[in-house]
Amino acid sequence: MIDMNERIDDITIVGGGAAGWLMALSLVTMLNKGESKVKVTLIESPNIPTIGVGEGTVTGFPRLLRQLGIKERDFLRRSDATYKCAGKFVGWSVDKQGNDRSFYNPFNNGGYINGFESSYYYHKFGPHGDAKSYVDNVLPTQMMVENALGPKEIGQGDYDSVMPYTYHLHAHAFSKQMAHIAQKRGVVHILDDFVDADLDEKGWITALNLKEKGKVPVKLVIDCTGFKGLILQQIMKEPYQEFGNHLLCDRAIPVPHPHRDIEKMRPCTTATAKSAGWIFDVPIYSRMGSGYVYSSQFKSEDEALHELLTHINDPELKDVTPQVIKMKVGRVRNTWVKNCIATGLAAGFVEPLEASAIYTIEMTARMLITYFPEKGITDPIINRFNQVMNRMYDEILNFIVMTYYTSNRPEPFWQAARNDIDIPPLLQENLELWKEFMPSAHDVEGKFLFDHWDYISLLNGQGYFEGVQFPTEKYLAKPDWVKYSQKMAETKRQLRRHLPSHYELLKHMHGG
Ligand SMILES: Cc1cc2nc3c(=O)[nH]c(=O)nc-3n(C[C@H](O)[C@H](O)[C@H](O)COP(=O)(O)OP(=O)(O)OC[C@H]3O[C@@H](n4cnc5c(N)ncnc54)[C@H](O)[C@@H]3O)c2cc1C
Repeated sequence: MIDMNERIDDITIVGGGAAGWLMALSLVTMLNKGESKVKVTLIESPNIPTIGVGEGTVTGFPRLLRQLGIKERDFLRRSDATYKCAGKFVGWSVDKQGNDRSFYNPFNNGGYINGFESSYYYHKFGPHGDAKSYVDNVLPTQMMVENALGPKEIGQGDYDSVMPYTYHLHAHAFSKQMAHIAQKRGVVHILDDFVDADLDEKGWITALNLKEKGKVPVKLVIDCTGFKGLILQQIMKEPYQEFGNHLLCDRAIPVPHPHRDIEKMRPCTTATAKSAGWIFDVPIYSRMGSGYVYSSQFKSEDEALHELLTHINDPELKDVTPQVIKMKVGRVRNTWVKNCIATGLAAGFVEPLEASAIYTIEMTARMLITYFPEKGITDPIINRFNQVMNRMYDEILNFIVMTYYTSNRPEPFWQAARNDIDIPPLLQENLELWKEFMPSAHDVEGKFLFDHWDYISLLNGQGYFEGVQFPTEKYLAKPDWVKYSQKMAETKRQLRRHLPSHYELLKHMHGG
């Protein structure tokens, strides 16, 4: 029987994908710096492949790599990585003439002018000079991405930069790199198939049974077994809450393909709306990764593949037979139950639109370290951990639902994505409020991945504020807007002169 009051000094991770190895590396690094030592073991099937997709990351990721003591150049080279400074959304809405709109969601913030969101000024006075959009008016990001510039100067230190950034990476190469470092730092690696688990009379896991090695006694288990959720969902019977009532996409077809013009590689992920979902285009160093994320209710596999290949437009790909991934979109009711925590796809997945999955793994590691059960696993620890993780998944869900819901595309899929779904109540309330006020920091709960500025930039891009009268605008004076915009235009001119191209920077960081 497990002693619940015992200090946890032994963690067993099952699964060797990005979730398993990122957890293993984070825990072995962060829990073994002082006098306390925690043993970390990772069990991985030699037979079951990892999902092998997942190439985008979010802003906090470079900070995580730095904290894990990984040199930026090593990461870039071994994980085949490139820089990412924004997401570009193409065609998620159409303008009055029926033409596709496109907009950027950058990683930095438009800021305030005299205490008011700069977006109010843009809404009242329109673009200044040659600015092409709100984001282009208040930030250098759009200029930088469109000119394929890198976010840092050549020779700047690891993780230092001129512009905020994160990375695109090669999923397998990244897991391999994490695995290599984690084992060097003491993670015990067992290659074997997990078969089942022994539970005590209270339902706590006492041992894992492996196909070759037999019984492995455990204290705390981390389930990283992917969509199957072998331990938390299947053995502990924790229910999985599907998000099908909120989000319709349930399939993905990824296709890697060569760069068309590597020297013009832009530091951004592009998400292009299509007839039954959207296509991602992610530049990693050695190739492009594209994929169609779509709803099987509205598109057959053959039709989806045809639409994807037409989008990529590379004759070499005409005979490809890619894998079709069935996405299980949702989350477990609780990620921590008794002495088992799930993370990665075993815990939940809110579709890839915001590249948020690796972030949820990072947050699981951070939360476990924050609430580490030094004096045993207690209800307050489990409850707080679950509240935080659930808020995080719900925040991601809200933001992604909003992206579909505020589209005005006419195709049946898009009509269903706004008319036949449940809108989370807080989002519904906020969308009402945002017809009178721009999103403010007080409106959004959670604030893990998205601050109110992400909402402003997305809603602006979707045309949500068009025709809205904001009472706040009567406090705004045009000269303040002009001064602010002129300063930004000058910043953009200087950056354009100084920043290297994304490709030059990558060549330098990758060593040729
Ligand atoms: C189309 C698509 C696009 C995505 N894009 C992004 C993105 O841009 N950014 C992002 O952050 N995330 C993205 N993701 C999510 C990302 O792929 C995953 O979060 C990430 O790869 C982690 O996967 P995982 O480790 O949980 O699962 P998996 O990679 O499936 O790994 C599961 C592991 O469990 C092991 N296993 C299974 N059964 C057993 C057993 N019986 N015994 C022992 N071991 C076992 C397997 O061998 C494997 O090692 C995307 C996902 C999809 C589907």
